[in-house]
Amino acid sequence: MSTLVSRNPVTGEVVAEHAAADEATVREVVTRARSAGLWWTSRRPRERRDALLRWKSELVAGSADLAAVIRAETGKPTTGALLEVMLAVEHLDWAARNAHKVLRRRKVAAGVLAMNQRALLEYVPFGVVGVIGPWNYPVYTPLGSISYALAAGNAVVFKPSEYTPGVGQWLADAWARVCPEPVLQVVIGDGRTGQAVVESDVDMVAFTGSADTARRVMAACATRLTPLVVEAGGKDALIVAADADLDAAAGAAVFGGLGNAGQTCAGVERVYVVADVYDRFLAAVTEKASAVRPGADDSAAYGPMTMPGQIEVVRRHVSDALAGGGVAALGGTDSIRAPFVEPIVLTGVAEDSRAMREETFGPTLVVNPVRDVEEAIRLTNASPYGLAAAIFTRDKARGLSTARRLRTGAVSVNSVLGFAAVPALPFGGVGDSGFGRVHGADGLREFSRPKAVTWQRCRAPIDLMRFDASPRAVRTALRLFRMRHGRGH
Ligand code: NAP
Repeated sequence: MSTLVSRNPVTGEVVAEHAAADEATVREVVTRARSAGLWWTSRRPRERRDALLRWKSELVAGSADLAAVIRAETGKPTTGALLEVMLAVEHLDWAARNAHKVLRRRKVAAGVLAMNQRALLEYVPFGVVGVIGPWNYPVYTPLGSISYALAAGNAVVFKPSEYTPGVGQWLADAWARVCPEPVLQVVIGDGRTGQAVVESDVDMVAFTGSADTARRVMAACATRLTPLVVEAGGKDALIVAADADLDAAAGAAVFGGLGNAGQTCAGVERVYVVADVYDRFLAAVTEKASAVRPGADDSAAYGPMTMPGQIEVVRRHVSDALAGGGVAALGGTDSIRAPFVEPIVLTGVAEDSRAMREETFGPTLVVNPVRDVEEAIRLTNASPYGLAAAIFTRDKARGLSTARRLRTGAVSVNSVLGFAAVPALPFGGVGDSGFGRVHGADGLREFSRPKAVTWQRCRAPIDLMRFDASPRAVRTALRLFRMRHGRGH
């Protein structure tokens, strides 16, 4: 068995060493999960809720300790680490308290043709869900899948990112303290361990990561037709209308673009500003961004690039943008001093450049002028990604109609990431940002199979579901059919 070493991205110091799970280990873990899952499904909904709430209490009581592990493995400041724990706990609480209400068996109308039937709909768990997570929000992001999968009655085998294995282990250890059965287990390793999870006989895969890895995971899921949820990257846009509160919009763009060193799937990467207010907005953004400082200390606004390889992606995007006619309003390639990247604001960047088409995942903002909100909508929707977007306007009708027309899974009006703290709202993307939803009632249903049950109460007055149906019954049925549906509306 090989070893996986996690390191502090700033100092390179070893945070922890873990035994990496090979294929055989993953198979054993999935087998254990299957029997734990049967136990879990057979618990009463209240018992499942209570176990999840005990787990929540472990996260709350241990939040400082958990934040320290997040900080050690990602480099992000303690406040950022605590913020993601708080958000994750909010979702866990919602999933635990709402699972039964959302998924329990209910009657649905049987309809005219089946008036002799009682129709029941219920949601049953898949069994074992393989959850594969990224490193940028190593608690908030995977818990979006784990909490909802567990609350829906599944067992979970969690493969954290190779950069944040300690966080994954912490979560599984906390579960082991509150529940006698291994309903949540962790398997640690690199992409090969993730692949082993996908190729094992898990009943569903919930993948969060890049679109490229998602394509490989989807291809592997195709062999067993394993259901899959994909939460992938983004190239989110923020639109600034002429009537926007420019100071608020600039503050939101800076936080949304630079927060967590830009390593946020739904972070702001593109800003489209209506020409009338472009100069004033750019001045405000540049001023605010220049006051933001990355660093290893806890008072820094954001930390290092967690994954060393991402630094070259940022460099490529900035160089490409500048070479294609873009102008640096703040910083430039000199701002890239591994493992930190200082804030970079670019303007006039060509729409076909890498910085506008691909996920940069660094503390950069491209601020481009547009004629009007119409043009901003068109450019926002031209991206292959479609995770989230934002619009700043004082006109409520414009805000809501723009939100409807944006090809994204979520839109914030007059804020960024407004949806992240609303557990009742589903989260997920369009196009290269993935499919399926975590969070909210849709997130609970995502981790369940809808099951249809009919209960025949009496014989049908006109029964055609038999070989000896009388010609009279057929004639009556046809007459009723034409009366009901033949009038063209
Ligand atoms: P990644 O490189 O795609 O990896 C994601 C996970 O997949 C990791 O655990 C990785 O393991 C594993 N993996 C790699 N190859 C695999 C394979 N062949 N089969 C199964 N699993 C495999 O992404 P990342 O760099 O960790 O995360 C950043 C990306 O995640 C960004 O694109 C970001 O936008 C996206 N993201 C999306 C959301 C969302 O909710 N939509 C949230 C957060 C992040 P290793 O780490 O060991 O390689």
